[in-house]
Amino acid sequence: MDRVSAGARPLASAEIIAVGSELLGTTRIDTNSLFLAGRLASLGIDLRAKSVVGDDRATLAAAVTSALTRADLVLLTGGLGPTDDDLTREVVAGVLGLALHEQSAIVLQIEERFARRGLRMPDANRRQAMVPEGGVSLDNPNGTAPGLLIDHGEQVIVLLPGPPRELQPMFDGLCAGRLLARAGLERTFHASLFVAGRGESHVEEIVQPIYSGWVTGDAPIQTTILAMPGQVELHLAHRAQDPDAGARRVSAARDELAAALGRDVFSLDGRSLEEVVGGLLTDRGLTLSAAESCTGGLLLSRLTDVPGSSRYVLGGVVAYSNELKASLAGVPESTVAAHGAVSEAVAVALAEGIRARTGSSLAVGITGIAGPGGGTDQKPVGTVAIALAGRDMPSRARLFSFFGGRPQVKFQASQAGLDMVRRGLQFPQGG
Ligand code: AMP
Ligand code: MG
Repeated sequence: MDRVSAGARPLASAEIIAVGSELLGTTRIDTNSLFLAGRLASLGIDLRAKSVVGDDRATLAAAVTSALTRADLVLLTGGLGPTDDDLTREVVAGVLGLALHEQSAIVLQIEERFARRGLRMPDANRRQAMVPEGGVSLDNPNGTAPGLLIDHGEQVIVLLPGPPRELQPMFDGLCAGRLLARAGLERTFHASLFVAGRGESHVEEIVQPIYSGWVTGDAPIQTTILAMPGQVELHLAHRAQDPDAGARRVSAARDELAAALGRDVFSLDGRSLEEVVGGLLTDRGLTLSAAESCTGGLLLSRLTDVPGSSRYVLGGVVAYSNELKASLAGVPESTVAAHGAVSEAVAVALAEGIRARTGSSLAVGITGIAGPGGGTDQKPVGTVAIALAGRDMPSRARLFSFFGGRPQVKFQASQAGLDMVRRGLQFPQGG
């Protein structure tokens, strides 16, 4: 397989420049670069940087010039329209020192596009037919702006239209193949591992001595730790030529970290906790219900984001008041009086009560103080009691203390509740 054209250095690194003043405002966001990032990853071209630049000649020229000092491939999106603020074509040609020539075939295509709707092509659209010397025009069946691919020595510059519905088919249909041919044999292999119930620095303490040994050597692996609410993610990246060896190397490395982290690891394949829990319930043919207080139904909401969840989610209640905890989940008022509404005893009563009422195999009870008010010295904001009840197991409960504002406390509580279900299923003897 010869993917590299003769003589040319393979395209290893890329930068994306999203062009458009609207992307600097408060209402529009650059999504094209997310699409392109995914495509570059599968082409094995390493995305090093991306930027957003307004419709301004000098700023855009500076951005292109600087990207060309670093990247083998520069992808620009937007600014290919017919109006005066669409500058990408001219600015790139200027930076590269290439003259622009009108291509009559493209003028004809755009004229025909207008004619099909019974319209005359405005003169302004002629600038969309301007192609820099040596550039290849990329047809746009979904709009008037053709794209451009320019070979510049060992570098490649690609100009794509802004609207995602024009850019995406153009990239996949006309661009990806050309880039793959220049991408070389080496590509990046990824693996990931997600952890719940352990903070970032604890995870780092365990994994750092392992992954620090992978940074150097002839087959280095790059490890990134991401702390998210309620979970810590480890992302591994490794460049290799041989696809089998590359994939094996990152997954072996991931498994080594997973072994060190033990039962706190919930995902080795990028699946979210709700997907993992859904998979476990499906595999075992079990059902779940929940009685939620401070999470307001978030645990069941997240579970039901997963397609097919109606097979294992029976339902549940959101019970804030003590009266509803009693009438809908059977929590004895004496339990609330003896232990307080936020207590492991009430969480257990919620879980057992909703399980008895729904007949589910498992049930979760959640009660806590999401804040900002309602905290006390003994039970500050962020205190949440969560319980898991099951048909053939003693109920288990834990008292957590979470950080952050209301949404963060709610999310972490839902995460801890889902994680208790996972542990209950994976480690029935406790874990
Ligand atoms: P343009 O090619 O600059 O005329 O862009 C036309 C339209 O495409 C804009 O009004 C946006 O709606 C959309 N667009 C441009 N750039 C992006 C981007 N980076 N991500 C998502 N949409 C974009
Ligand atoms: Mg624009």
